[in-house]
Amino acid sequence: MANSRFEYVKQFERENFLLPDTYIVIRVDGKGFHKFSEKYEFEKPNDERALKVMNQAALKMMESFPDITVSYGDSDEYSFLLQKKCNLFERREMKLVSTFASHMSVYYMYAWNEEFPQKPLDPSRLPTFDARAVQYPSFQHVRDYFSWRQVDCHINNLYNTTFWNLVVKGGLTGQEAENRLIGTVSSDKNEILFKEFGINYNNEPEIYKKGTVMVRDYVSSHEEQELSKRQLQRLEKQRRKANISTLHVDIIKDGFWNERPWLE
Ligand code: ATP
Ligand code: ATP
Ligand code: MG
Ligand code: MG
Ligand code: MG
Ligand code: MG
Ligand code: MG
Repeated sequence: MANSRFEYVKQFERENFLLPDTYIVIRVDGKGFHKFSEKYEFEKPNDERALKVMNQAALKMMESFPDITVSYGDSDEYSFLLQKKCNLFERREMKLVSTFASHMSVYYMYAWNEEFPQKPLDPSRLPTFDARAVQYPSFQHVRDYFSWRQVDCHINNLYNTTFWNLVVKGGLTGQEAENRLIGTVSSDKNEILFKEFGINYNNEPEIYKKGTVMVRDYVSSHEEQELSKRQLQRLEKQRRKANISTLHVDIIKDGFWNERPWLE
């Protein structure tokens, strides 16, 4: 029953319910972090403590949303995989996306204040995140999605590591370093690092080369769909309490996934 003659405007709202029985990945990405990292003087190419802030925020996300089974992040982005049977917000896309973006933003800010008490955030440049949801029909798609993000991390890190060595140790300007790298492939960058700076890229920290994967150590059974509401609530509680592991490992090869068949 309408409360007032104005209530008809509610009918103009549209809702996109994400398809049932598909994997949902929500990726958040920091807005304008190129500028943000300059403003707060991140160490280049990798500010370890800024990565720690991202990882702290992602951990809070996993603690807040037990439907997240795996998270993967590098730089200013994080991807969250929701279990296939997830019914959070009845799978309403706008609710999911806006909630993930806002939670990531506030958790990032909270973690920042803990990690960088000597670098208070300037109200004119606060960290914010956008979010998008993508649905994948098969687990192979999910595997390929995470491989795509990890390859991206590797390519960016190799580029950035070479670029910043050319600038900081090689004395090149940004423009000169950029020109130097035009048309180079991975082996060329490895060679520049080794021959000119004595750096073996393979020995760079794993967190920079591989990013961070967080996984909930919760073994779910596939029969969850037949359970009652109370049983489902109990399982959610168990999921919430389960340990979350933080790793810097390869997620492109089968090993990580074969060790955790319940993720599928
Ligand atoms: P957009 O709003 O479109 O996402 P952006 O400036 O955030 O723009 P991205 O492609 O997301 O662009 O790139 C993020 C940038 O943030 C990186 O290129 C890098 O310069 C910087 N950055 C993020 N995390 C770190 C870190 N831990 N250490 C150093 N730099 C970082
Ligand atoms: P949802 O997550 O679905 O939005 P909700 O609990 O936020 O759930 P809303 O319909 O958004 O539900 O209602 C917000 C409620 O917050 C109001 O009903 C009111 O009880 C409370 N509230 C918000 N602002 C104030 C305020 N300034 N003073 C007192 N109560 C407030
Ligand atoms: Mg971007
Ligand atoms: Mg960004
Ligand atoms: Mg980014
Ligand atoms: Mg509300
Ligand atoms: Mg309200």
